[in-house]
Amino acid sequence: MRGGRRQRAVIIGGGLGGLALALRLAARGMAVTVCERSGRLGGKMNRLERDGFSFDTGPSLITMPHVFEGLFASVGETLSDHLELMPVRPLAEYVYPDGTRFAHGGALPDWIDTLRRLEPRDVDGFFRYVRLGARMFALSESTFLRRPLGAPPDRAALAAMARMPWRHAWGNYARAVGAHFKSPYLVQLYNRYPTYVGSSPYEAPAMLAVIPYLEYAFGGWHVSGGLYRIVEALTALGAARGVTFRTDAEVTRIRVANGRVAGVGLAGGEELDADVCVMNGDPSMAPALLGGAAGSTLRPRDRSLSGLVFLVGLNRRVEGWGHHTVFFSEDYPREFGSLFRERRFPEDPTVYVNMPTRSDPRLAPPGCETLFIMANAPPDAEEAWDAAATAKAREQVFARLRAGGFPDLDDAAVEEVWTPGDFAERYAMPGGAIYGAHSHGWRRAFFRPPNKDRRVEGLYYTGGGSHPGGGTPTVLISARITSELILRHETS
Ligand SMILES: Cc1cc2nc3c(=O)[nH]c(=O)nc-3n(C[C@H](O)[C@H](O)[C@H](O)COP(=O)(O)OP(=O)(O)OC[C@H]3O[C@@H](n4cnc5c(N)ncnc54)[C@H](O)[C@@H]3O)c2cc1C
Repeated sequence: MRGGRRQRAVIIGGGLGGLALALRLAARGMAVTVCERSGRLGGKMNRLERDGFSFDTGPSLITMPHVFEGLFASVGETLSDHLELMPVRPLAEYVYPDGTRFAHGGALPDWIDTLRRLEPRDVDGFFRYVRLGARMFALSESTFLRRPLGAPPDRAALAAMARMPWRHAWGNYARAVGAHFKSPYLVQLYNRYPTYVGSSPYEAPAMLAVIPYLEYAFGGWHVSGGLYRIVEALTALGAARGVTFRTDAEVTRIRVANGRVAGVGLAGGEELDADVCVMNGDPSMAPALLGGAAGSTLRPRDRSLSGLVFLVGLNRRVEGWGHHTVFFSEDYPREFGSLFRERRFPEDPTVYVNMPTRSDPRLAPPGCETLFIMANAPPDAEEAWDAAATAKAREQVFARLRAGGFPDLDDAAVEEVWTPGDFAERYAMPGGAIYGAHSHGWRRAFFRPPNKDRRVEGLYYTGGGSHPGGGTPTVLISARITSELILRHETS
């Protein structure tokens, strides 16, 4: 309460982090308004409906389900009353240019058989890599995943640091993979994980080995009805607790008086008063809202990957393929060289196919399939993605699928393409960079913008662009940390 009235919070952005934070703050009695510039809530976690096909246009897989459950529990709810989480096992199939194809993320004995077949020495390497990931997880859990940036280490953190094999943890991600695996197939597979945070394995720190560990330890999950059901559930719970959701409501200004947030201004001239303001859009856009130069402060060379996405609806089944498939390129270092150094779409891209109708047939008309096909793209939305460039990239993507034995998709009933320019425009992402800043090097990976502004009182940040970083569970953790900071600093 402030002066006998409820504290007013305005959240700039209705992405996953904004929605989770709105729910948490409303449950603690704050009057919360979410302002979303686009016409739909959800941000990158979104949905497109076309001719009976339902596409999740962002995340296709979640891990750490306990983090989602924790959010519901924090407001007195049970996740399973609102959402049905479905384990996907095996998690994915990997297809290589020489025709090698195997499943990953199923029963452990099957995986050991695969490892033995590929390279017997890698059985031991795999278990050592899991142990390394487990130690990194213990350290992350007791430090940056649990607490605001800069909080001093507690006893659990110091104990986790003492157990860390720093020889492997301190260095480069791809080198750590190379120290554990001999099979080129497994090296490429494990080198893919830094792309989960929009980064190159050849530039990222070895600490990102925590990502494959999370998938191994907590599995990969689909949400029945599509991942957008998460957005619908959070919105319904927020509305029931009095959150005001406003779409087509772009914040163009954060009003500050005497060093403290006083409110926001919307495009069109409307003013909203606020005691607390939270930026859920990329933090690099906040200085412009505070009166600085227009645009983002995230330099092009610091941006994470963008994507080239095809949303395809087929009026037939695709037999013999599962929910998630990855078709690897011939030359992974060259692919990342194109993406980050040459800043161009790779000649031979690695292609990810998500076909959720394999687990959840209701996402398409009976007997049909919904496909989300994605290749990494440089985060330069400003570059020409004209019809010719997009058609050329499409041919490169579909050639990789054909080479991997995937059926032709030329008879698609629906096909939509989203380029980095579409991502930039739809979600106000600088350059279309999906995860804000990339995680190249320790400083960028673990020292993202903090959740509380250092200069303006009452101004906070939440979501993938701020601490602790992107990916859906981490975004929910960000919302928890931000809500704890707000409750500590603003409501006492
Ligand atoms: C193609 C794709 C695939 C992905 N795959 C996965 C996956 O498989 N698993 C996974 O865990 N994660 C995945 N992610 C990442 C995940 O979607 C994001 O990390 C997460 O959804 C980001 O949430 P956020 O809270 O940071 O907000 P965002 O989704 O970035 O939303 C921020 C919102 O703020 C709004 N906004 C910005 N500025 C303003 C303003 N001035 N006024 C009003 N509104 C504003 C934007 O319009 C946007 O809606 C994927 C993302 C994409 C795009």
